[in-house]
Amino acid sequence: MTHSPEMLAIVEAIRSRQRFVLSSHSRPDGDSIGSQLAMAYALRALGKEVRVINKDAASAPIMQFPGVPAIEIADTAQGEFDAAIIMECGDLARTGVACLDRYFVINIDHHPGNTEYGQLNWFDSSAAACGEMVFDLIEALGVPFSVEIATHIYLAILTDTGSFHYSNITPRTFEISGRCLEAGVDPVQVARNVYDSNNMGRLRLFGAVLSGMQLDPTGRIAVVYLDHKMAREAGGTYEDTEGLINLPLTVKEIQAVVFFKQSEGDEYRVSMRSKGNIDIGGVAKQFGGGGHKNAAGCTVLGGIDTLQLDFIQKMTAAIEAAGVDQPGVPPRTDGPSAGSGTAATDRA
Ligand code: 5GP
Ligand code: MN
Repeated sequence: MTHSPEMLAIVEAIRSRQRFVLSSHSRPDGDSIGSQLAMAYALRALGKEVRVINKDAASAPIMQFPGVPAIEIADTAQGEFDAAIIMECGDLARTGVACLDRYFVINIDHHPGNTEYGQLNWFDSSAAACGEMVFDLIEALGVPFSVEIATHIYLAILTDTGSFHYSNITPRTFEISGRCLEAGVDPVQVARNVYDSNNMGRLRLFGAVLSGMQLDPTGRIAVVYLDHKMAREAGGTYEDTEGLINLPLTVKEIQAVVFFKQSEGDEYRVSMRSKGNIDIGGVAKQFGGGGHKNAAGCTVLGGIDTLQLDFIQKMTAAIEAAGVDQPGVPPRTDGPSAGSGTAATDRA
């Protein structure tokens, strides 16, 4: 395949340097960890010195993959490095790790809106996962495709495509996944590690959050909510909600989901997901956040009722802009919340 000049510049920059620090966005997901560790194993295979420094630890399921427990958790990057390679991170501040800008920064990412914060920037929003880009880079560096590297590339792709659900999946996604299997990756084991190694508190928390789910009047938008008290009572943590937001979308009529997680007082972390052409990345941007068309987020301040109405309004506009006009889930007439109207009216 033909390589972009941006990628070739990174190949040269890596060849001519020795000591690397790798980082990614805070609260790392499978694509952050997979991209970083595939790169770490590849650089070590080239005889380079590598440290991986993240703001937050990986979740327990991801912790089961090779090399993940050895990732350093810190607020600041300290040490002598010839370059910082930041992967899967739209903005250097999103690493949550200070002082990375003291180094020669190489930025490899697929998030629309990437701020091109590096001395070298390679950005490809058509990649289904940053891990796809890392695969190409590792191949161009001539590093043998070991089972550890392949496992992390596969982890990145599996998780960032939502198990091959989301847009941006291309024939290349499957070609790379196929190469991973040829290199010895066991897809059943990876899926078990990622999806079937949760704790009981997490399942109870899912139950609590989903039983409080509300719908907009058209039944196309689901609103879910979590605060510290609910988490405590269910015996789970905020980290345990990873993946929860995708469940409302398994209902045919539901086109988009917004998940409010109370941080402190009136501050909320907001995650959104959508189906097909519905651009909720644009909605997140209107609230000072960002993301992809089908997965985006932001942090907002305000009263929860007003916030919910505001998000529903802007998400409705996004649904209409995408031309989704089929009716959603009919309003319930049989349950305790019957007649409660919009999602926002039900919550104190
Ligand atoms: P999540 O809902 O998993 O936290 O985030 C989904 C996606 O939305 C992330 O991969 C990221 O691209 C984007 N995102 C989430 N929160 C923010 C934010 O506060 N700012 C920006 N720019 N993007 C975000
Ligand atoms: Mn990603």
